Amino acid sequence: MIENRKVINIQGVSFSYPGTNNRIVLDNINLDVYAGEMLVLLGPNGSGKSTLARLMNGLLAPTGGQVLVDGLDTADETSLWQIRKQVGMVFQNPDNQLVAALVEEELAFGMENLGFPPEEMKKRIKELSARMQLEEFLDFPPHRLSGGQKQRVAIASVLAIEPQVLVLDEPTSMLDPAGRREVLSELARLKQSGKTVVLVTHDMTEAVAADRIVVLEQGKTAFVGSPRECFSRVDWLREIGLEIPPPAELARRMRERGLAVPETLYHVTDWV
Ligand code: ADP
Repeated sequence: MIENRKVINIQGVSFSYPGTNNRIVLDNINLDVYAGEMLVLLGPNGSGKSTLARLMNGLLAPTGGQVLVDGLDTADETSLWQIRKQVGMVFQNPDNQLVAALVEEELAFGMENLGFPPEEMKKRIKELSARMQLEEFLDFPPHRLSGGQKQRVAIASVLAIEPQVLVLDEPTSMLDPAGRREVLSELARLKQSGKTVVLVTHDMTEAVAADRIVVLEQGKTAFVGSPRECFSRVDWLREIGLEIPPPAELARRMRERGLAVPETLYHVTDWV
């Protein structure tokens, strides 16, 4: 359920990377993330999605404006540990995120850093591994897992510290179709269990489950709204290099030609 409470509050945020002659990567972004929503950040390559994701948990500090997490300013270094507990990040390539020799140690890693008592750690590892179907792999080295399984371990190890928000930066881009489905259905389950999920992608088929979509274009928010509203702007999306999902496109074309849309496409006809 989406609450009326802002977990992340982005106010007039601009960002330039150091040493780039102040080249503007994000330009006056105003955006709130509400508790319990699934927000998808879409946009062509280089539009600033990853940068915005990294600003959400204080991995980067804004050049101008403010990012607040539960009212705490990410630019305030003394709040950072608390912010990182609230906003967990999952990156594109699980191989870069997984550091431990065994899956079980991987799940414990974040909790150890935060000084969780061993009993609590054990309890959480048991619960999480059951929920994420990782029980049989606990004594496996992560590198022996498939891409989808590795990404599930990466997600589980972030969930272990029970953040309110999970920010995922293109978590499926390194995965095969099966791994991708695994991760996407996990995200749908997380959202159903009440987590706030921010998903960065340049793939519009991944955006259909969003409560809201934000489209970034050259560092600006070019669109904020529902998937249906977003996908109805086919021409604009195409202009900026984004293709609407093939089933939605098919349903749209059939409708344009006055053809009956088959039942199998019904679930996507709302998008167009
Ligand atoms: P996206 O995730 O939408 O592909 P990014 O946030 O990764 O976009 O990048 C936005 C812009 O910032 C791009 O022009 C990119 O080249 C630039 N950029 C990203 N990371 C760095 C960095 N570490 N140093 C300098 N420029 C960067």
